Amino acid sequence: MHLNYTVIDRGDELSRSLAAKFHLLAGERGMIRNDARPNFVISIGGDGTLLQAYHKFVERIDDISFVGVHTGHLGFYADWKADELEELVALMAENEPRIVSYPLAKIELETANDKTCFTALNEFTLKGVDGTLVAQININDELFEMFRGDGIVISTPSGSTAYNKSLGGAIVHPSMESIQMAEIASINNRVYRTLGSSVLLPKHHHVDIISSKKQRITLAIDHISILRDDIRAIRCAVSDHKISFARYRPFTFWNRVREAFIGYDHQQ
Ligand code: NAP
Ligand code: MN
Repeated sequence: MHLNYTVIDRGDELSRSLAAKFHLLAGERGMIRNDARPNFVISIGGDGTLLQAYHKFVERIDDISFVGVHTGHLGFYADWKADELEELVALMAENEPRIVSYPLAKIELETANDKTCFTALNEFTLKGVDGTLVAQININDELFEMFRGDGIVISTPSGSTAYNKSLGGAIVHPSMESIQMAEIASINNRVYRTLGSSVLLPKHHHVDIISSKKQRITLAIDHISILRDDIRAIRCAVSDHKISFARYRPFTFWNRVREAFIGYDHQQ
């Protein structure tokens, strides 16, 4: 059976030339280019490129395996280097990959009229536009806290190394089906009180972020951000879908964390 694939590149010169090279090598190996309905999506660029590739194919997420090639620094979603393209294509043509799946976050936006659903690969970010964001937070339908502050980030395990980490959230291994809620600059004094630390919720739990007043809010699903003033509530939970990666050689999550944030120089 011939493997059917597409390539998404970051658009810079190096990534574009690597994409062209991939098509050439893949063609020689009998792989079939299918830009509309691929089963393998090769992302060439950075983690941001993989986020774009994910959102482009999110409707068919269960039928796709992703492979990431990085043309900048080592990525969390991109683990092949530019000079390893031949090796990657050869492995893809000749081997069955190990499929590794990571949890996604499900976000349901509720307005007075309708509900819209999104899934995020890294995180869902909520921020006030005109000042403090004011929101009631319920966990599993019970009041948890009244939040006042800059915003809230709900991240997936694989997104825990991105925005969530900058907020002091924990790094979560992607085998743990969970979402993490972290605060952005919450106001805490004798009047306003939030938990302060981030919380990790297992599958089948949900968080509702309820806006009881009319306020302008920026919502971001990964890198895609929209401005809304009609949001009444947002429900966040672990999605029923996952993203799959095709692995042709092992590269463990903790190795990535170490290589991205610690490096070898700091190990005595
Ligand atoms: P960007 O501004 O290029 O992204 C910021 C950095 O986050 C880049 O270095 C990016 O890597 C890296 N990154 C993306 N996903 C990651 C992950 N899962 N683990 C570790 N690092 C990750 O914008 P972008 O490339 O479109 O990425 C959007 C992401 O940026 C958002 O999903 C959010 O997580 C993150 N972000 C972080 C902050 C913050 O830390 N203060 C603020 C806003 C957004 P590449 O260079 O390889 O793309
Ligand atoms: Mn980027």
